[in-house]
Amino acid sequence: MRTFSVIGVMVLLFVSVARTTSEDNLTAPPLQAGMSSENSFATNTQQCRASMRTLAGQAVIFFAANDRYPRNLKEIDMAGTVCPTCGLKYQLTSGDDHFYIECPLSFSPDHGNIDDGVTSWVDSGN
Ligand SMILES: [Zn+2]
Repeated sequence: MRTFSVIGVMVLLFVSVARTTSEDNLTAPPLQAGMSSENSFATNTQQCRASMRTLAGQAVIFFAANDRYPRNLKEIDMAGTVCPTCGLKYQLTSGDDHFYIECPLSFSPDHGNIDDGVTSWVDSGN
């Protein structure tokens, strides 16, 4: 019973975060990094950012081989990669000499983006 109620609280937390709009993102408390549910928003954020890092790494490798960045995720065989929270595919915006990868999450706080290899988030060492 105790385990179930903890999961229930996690679900409620997730729903409240999912309903957060850009208008009230300043009032949305960041979830604690120590939360242990496998599907917590914090865990999904880490997984999502790891995925975006992988996409960025593949884009750089593609650049080394082709002298331009990929125009879409199909070119690097990663078209099926999705955000673990929203389940949508990542958005790649690119030109020959720049690229921008963004999580498709439509609410705040979102998972950020990678602009020419620079992450929009600051790593906290974990
Ligand atoms: Zn995401």
